[in-house]
Amino acid sequence: MDVIISMAAKGQKIIYHRQNCMYVEKMKPQNRMVLSQKTVKKQRFCSCLYCGGLKGELRTNPQFSAWEKEYGIAIDYIEKNNALYVRTKIGCWKLWPDEETDKYLLFHRNIYNKDMTLAEACYGAYHRQRDVKPMASLHQLINYIVAHDRAKVIIMDNYRKLPRTTAKQKKYYRQTENKIKRRERKQAQQRIDYLFKLIAEGRA
Ligand SMILES: [Zn+2]
Repeated sequence: MDVIISMAAKGQKIIYHRQNCMYVEKMKPQNRMVLSQKTVKKQRFCSCLYCGGLKGELRTNPQFSAWEKEYGIAIDYIEKNNALYVRTKIGCWKLWPDEETDKYLLFHRNIYNKDMTLAEACYGAYHRQRDVKPMASLHQLINYIVAHDRAKVIIMDNYRKLPRTTAKQKKYYRQTENKIKRRERKQAQQRIDYLFKLIAEGRA
């Protein structure tokens, strides 16, 4: 990722910003210098207190409203939790910035219904989404969330309608099919157990 420093700043320490920081907008265009994040870290420049780090991206990301429209989701940054909440029609997710690694960790809310308010959605139990590695790209994570919940909607209707074009889709289909078949076998067994219980009690 590239960052911006001001060439007009003299003396003192050099502060770098994310490209969409409001302080970059205040710099004259001819004073803006683009550097890689690697370079500024090596030079021990300081990150801006307003936009610095991942927290800054969550606070000042101008793409959120476009993603909300494009994907039909709600995106909210809650400062005091230092987390981004993404709500789809059927799921609620939390993205937490790990400043140590400069990557986001993804969490999934255990129970969610679309009538929950944002405040309600922020509370309660979340679990770490283990099949997703920590990621540097917010957009990639949002894409994962949207694809995950779209697939879930299809499964709730009929898993056989899941797409099976790419290798990844085929793998996901097989995993889902196995999971559902296991569940069906378990339910069938439970019905049989129940029936035998009724017979044993002389009620059937
Ligand atoms: Zn800044």
